[in-house]
Amino acid sequence: QKPTVIITGASSGLGLNAAAALAKSGEWHVIMACRDFSKAISQAKRLGLPSGSYTVMHLDLASLDSVRQFVDAFRASGRRLDSLVCNAAVYLPTAKEPRFTADGFELSVGTNHLGHFLLANLLMKDLEGSPSANPRMVIVGSITGNTNTMAGNVPPKADLGDLSGLSAGSVMIDGKEFDGAKAYKDSKVCNMLTMREFERRFGGKKVHFASLYPGCIAETGLFREHYGVFKTLFPLFQKYVTKGYVSEEEAGKRLAQVVSDPALNKSGVYWSWSNTKGAFENQVSEEVADDGKGTKLWEISEKLVGLA
Ligand code: NDP
Repeated sequence: QKPTVIITGASSGLGLNAAAALAKSGEWHVIMACRDFSKAISQAKRLGLPSGSYTVMHLDLASLDSVRQFVDAFRASGRRLDSLVCNAAVYLPTAKEPRFTADGFELSVGTNHLGHFLLANLLMKDLEGSPSANPRMVIVGSITGNTNTMAGNVPPKADLGDLSGLSAGSVMIDGKEFDGAKAYKDSKVCNMLTMREFERRFGGKKVHFASLYPGCIAETGLFREHYGVFKTLFPLFQKYVTKGYVSEEEAGKRLAQVVSDPALNKSGVYWSWSNTKGAFENQVSEEVADDGKGTKLWEISEKLVGLA
């Protein structure tokens, strides 16, 4: 059997393009873990993934039952697991009212963080059983959750506060009023804190952990709920002003690199790219570097998803 990588949200944008890069390399079997089966199939065909190089499996991260069912179905497939990529996300910057997952969590934190938190914890056992020397768990981060960057300082800024809202079942992690853009940024901080907490708990052994900011992929479906004028101007702004723009194809190659490049085998790293140097180890924000917060987030999340 070829090494297997599971990519969540592989029906669009970054995940789809990483799936294409890995499937076309001929070295990987890609499990496209998606909520929309027919969309995933048609997108895989559109990008020319060789038949037999991928399998689409149903996963709705906005339902903890679906996450558990996915893990059971994956195990029943008899495939080995060599890499897990937690990539799927929703972003609701214009929502006036919160939306919720099947389990009653605010949709962006519930999908982007809690669904992936359960999935990653359940699949640790499978990664540990991999025939690869260093199977990799990759959790996609973002610069927008990094308040040590210019992009991360655009209001509303990510801020998990003391996490009292999360543990009390409030809509926002900090217990304050709903803000869709902030909920997304908070969820990305959670993704990066989770990667670092995995490293603290399980690092130095077989499984390696990584997060990344692939660049600003300004044309993906992530911005589907944004205002029309934003969707027109944002890619131009990123291309010509910040110069942080990256195409979906290039971003997909970057994510594929974090999955498979021997040069990126170091664990616990938050990878970023510069146009001249390629991949480099980036610094995380003060909040993401707060190990106490990472541990607290882990303990609360464990209870919320029913692992503790
Ligand atoms: P897209 O919207 O193009 O892709 C998001 C994917 O997540 C889609 O496949 C979508 O499925 C899937 N998804 C959403 N909700 C669920 C769910 N409940 N269960 C399963 N899958 C779900 O966005 P991007 O490709 O831009 O985003 C991918 C990752 O990249 C995210 O983690 C994002 O935070 C990160 N990122 C993006 C940047 C950018 O500039 N675009 C910059 C930095 C990070 P469907 O196709 O059915 O909608």
